[in-house]
Amino acid sequence: MSDCLFCKIVEKKIPAKIVYEDDETLAFDDINPQAPVHTLVIPKKHVAAVQAYGPQDQLLIGQLLLACTKVAKGKGLAESGYRLVANTGRDGGQTVFHLHFHLMGGRQMGWPPG
Ligand code: AMP
Ligand code: ZN
Repeated sequence: MSDCLFCKIVEKKIPAKIVYEDDETLAFDDINPQAPVHTLVIPKKHVAAVQAYGPQDQLLIGQLLLACTKVAKGKGLAESGYRLVANTGRDGGQTVFHLHFHLMGGRQMGWPPG
C-alpha cells in the first residue's frame, strides 16, 4: 500500500532498525520505545488490523507469532518473558493501520494497561 508507513519500511524506502526478517514477516525496533526492548513485528503483506484478517490469512498469523518467538529469543527475553500487544482500531489505540505486534520486555509490565 503506497501511503502506508510500515509498507514503506518493508520496501526499505524508510530506514528502520530491522532485527528479524523472513519471507513473510519483518521485525524492527520501535522508534519511541516504551520498554528496554520494544520491537514491532509485522506481516510484509499489508493487513490493516487484526479484524481485517480473513480465512486466507490463517497461516500468516501463525508465522507472525513464530517470528515473535524468534525475536524474543534473539533479544534474550525467552526466559524472563515479555508482552505481545496488538492495538486494534480506534478504541484499541492503534495509530499505524498496518497490523503489528508490539513485543515489549526487559522490565516488569503492569496490568491492566492504560
Ligand atoms: P500503534 O499505536 O499500536 O499503532 O503503534 C504504532 C507504533 O509505531 C508506535 O509505537 C510508534 O512509536 C511506532 N512507529 C511509528 N513510526 C515508526 C517508525 N518510523 N519506525 C519505528 N516505529 C515507528
Ligand atoms: Zn502497510
